[in-house]
Amino acid sequence: MAERAIALFEQNGCSSFQFFSKNPRSLQVKHFSTAEAERCRQLMEQYRLRSVIHSAYPLNLATSIQDQPEVAIQHVHSLCNDLEIAEATGAIGVVVHFGIVKKSNRLEGYRDILTTLNAVLTMYKGPTLILLENQAGLHGGIGSTFEEHVQIKQLCMDPDRIGFCFDTCHAYVSGLWHADDQSGTEQLILHGERVGYWDDVEVVHVNDAAEPYGSLRDRHAQLGKGQIPLAAMKELLSTPQLNGVMNVLETPASDVSFHQAEWEILRTLQYSN
Ligand SMILES: [Zn+2]
Repeated sequence: MAERAIALFEQNGCSSFQFFSKNPRSLQVKHFSTAEAERCRQLMEQYRLRSVIHSAYPLNLATSIQDQPEVAIQHVHSLCNDLEIAEATGAIGVVVHFGIVKKSNRLEGYRDILTTLNAVLTMYKGPTLILLENQAGLHGGIGSTFEEHVQIKQLCMDPDRIGFCFDTCHAYVSGLWHADDQSGTEQLILHGERVGYWDDVEVVHVNDAAEPYGSLRDRHAQLGKGQIPLAAMKELLSTPQLNGVMNVLETPASDVSFHQAEWEILRTLQYSN
C-alpha cells in the first residue's frame, strides 16, 4: 500500500490517502506483522506522506453495551485494532462514522456512543486519534451537526484524543452546508468557528454530492460532476481554518483516468498563500 502511495505521489503529486486496515465489511480483528507495518511507517515518513484509516463499515459507536454486550465488545475491539494498525503504520487517525441509533430515544444513542468511545480510550492509550465523521442524516438522524460532534468530544473521558473528519457530501445532503446559497459557505465557516469545530478537523473528505441539498441521500459524485458548486467547494477548502488539513477523495473513480481529473481540480480548490 505504501509503495502504491509512493507511486501515486511520484506520478501525480498526491501526498495524502485513506485506507482500510482490514476487510471493510467485517469487524474481525486483523493480526498484522509489526515489521511490515514499521516498513510502511518509515516509507511514509521518508516521502512525507500522510494517511488515515477508515474503520470497517459495520462499525457503529452507538452499539449498546447494555442491550448487546458481546456485540458491543466486538465493535470496541475492532476500533482498537484499527488504532493499533494506524499507529504502527504511521497513519494520523481512524475515521469513524458518528453512529447509527436504532432506538427511538436519541439520548440513549448518545450515551451508547460515549460508552463505546470511553471503552476504546481505556483500552487503547496510544497517540492515534479517533476522528468522528459527520453523517448524511439518515439512520436515526444523528451525527450531522457540529454541535453533536463538539459535545461528544467534550463529554468523553479524553477529549484530546478525539478529532473530526468533515465530509463535504454529507454536510451538503444533511442540510448543514447550504453550498447553493451565496452566503451559505461563509455561514458554515462562521458556524463551525462559533462552536469550536474547525480546530479539531484533521481530515476533509472532499466529495461532491450526487443528490440535492437537504435530501439526506448519501451518494458521492466526482468533483465538479455533482450538485455542489466548485466555487463553494473552493471557498470552503481555501479558508485558513482548513489550511494544512488532509484532503482525501471518496468519489467513484473514472474507468479511463482513475482520479486524475479530480486531483487537478482539487489542487485549484485548496488553500495557497
Ligand atoms: Zn466520508
